[in-house]
Amino acid sequence: MMKINRKIKPAGLYIHIPFCLKKCGYCDFLSFGGCSSRLQEQYVEALKNEIGMYAGQGIKIDTVFIGGGTPSLLHENHITEIMKAAEAAFCITEDAEITIEANPKTLNADKLSVYRRAGINRLSMGAQAMNDEMLEFMGRAHDRADFLENFRQARQAGFDNINADLMFGIPGQTMEMWKDSLRQMIGLGPDHISFYSLQLEEGTEFARMYRNGEIDLPESELDREMYHEGIRMLKTAGYNHYEISNCAKPGHECRHNLKYWDYDEYYAVGLGAHSFTYKSGRRCNVSDFEKYFELTGAGLLPQDEDMYEEESLQDMMGEYVFTALRKLEGLSLDDFRETFGRDFHDVYSEQKPVLAEYAGKGLVIITDTHIALTVTGIDRSNEIMAEFV
Ligand code: SF4
Repeated sequence: MMKINRKIKPAGLYIHIPFCLKKCGYCDFLSFGGCSSRLQEQYVEALKNEIGMYAGQGIKIDTVFIGGGTPSLLHENHITEIMKAAEAAFCITEDAEITIEANPKTLNADKLSVYRRAGINRLSMGAQAMNDEMLEFMGRAHDRADFLENFRQARQAGFDNINADLMFGIPGQTMEMWKDSLRQMIGLGPDHISFYSLQLEEGTEFARMYRNGEIDLPESELDREMYHEGIRMLKTAGYNHYEISNCAKPGHECRHNLKYWDYDEYYAVGLGAHSFTYKSGRRCNVSDFEKYFELTGAGLLPQDEDMYEEESLQDMMGEYVFTALRKLEGLSLDDFRETFGRDFHDVYSEQKPVLAEYAGKGLVIITDTHIALTVTGIDRSNEIMAEFV
């Protein structure tokens, strides 16, 4: 039972597609390379079943995010079917932001125009680097030319809201290589750029290589320099740095991802997908295909009950702070009060001296209305956020 009291707004809908051409060396997302088209078809059927279980509840949705994995690997007709199922089950607003994630080499002009006809109005492309040597090293299935061609086709198909993902801190990547990728990307002018530092995740090929001494990670100092150089170049090019890892041209901030950082509700369907609603809390779907098919086939929501833990009010407030501080505008004290019925400074009175200390060092800004990390504070975000959880 949730203990918050917030004005209900339209929610987000996340749809997970767990297929990729092949697995990248650094990736620990729930995705599988080289799956048969039979498994993909079976999955789409099960997914449509799951989506249909939400019908008749009048759930209003104003952002849809088809993510993965590589959704663009599916046949385009499957995407149309999934969108039709979503439109039949949920009340999707006319002005909804509808994103599909796509990887170069799995897109073409036909697919892109089918997506447009299915109502998809935002494309998120995994570029990662604009350097073939880096792409090959990362185990990406595409090269720079594939990205350029797909980007051009996407603009031609009418996509006027495109995100490109880039990575830095890749083993062997120099500052000059990172700046070159950024320069090339800025030259293309996507509407939104996400940029992430490569992290070593357990169970990945990179983690194995690192343990065996086959790769080295860049020094953390260089990683931070790359981050700040990225922000500097993107801001100079007219992008607004609105979240730790995201920059957008004005008006192109990702409305779906903002729901995660704004403590808004989102439904989620598909293998291993995570949802958050005020009524049911945080839920997670099963991540095993057989179990997923069995439950959806029996007309049951494929939620993993073993993963469910009821959160205390303290946990919820901690999560709220943790996600709100990811936004450069920071945490709104009014919104915190409206959500939990308590004053932030009362709840976190013990943290007041340490917050003041961070503010004194220029890592945090405290005003009458907001608490926010500064760009320097972002380098110590884990430490600062940990004060609240
Ligand atoms: S394409 Fe994306 S989801 Fe698929 S393996 Fe590579 S990083 Fe992971």
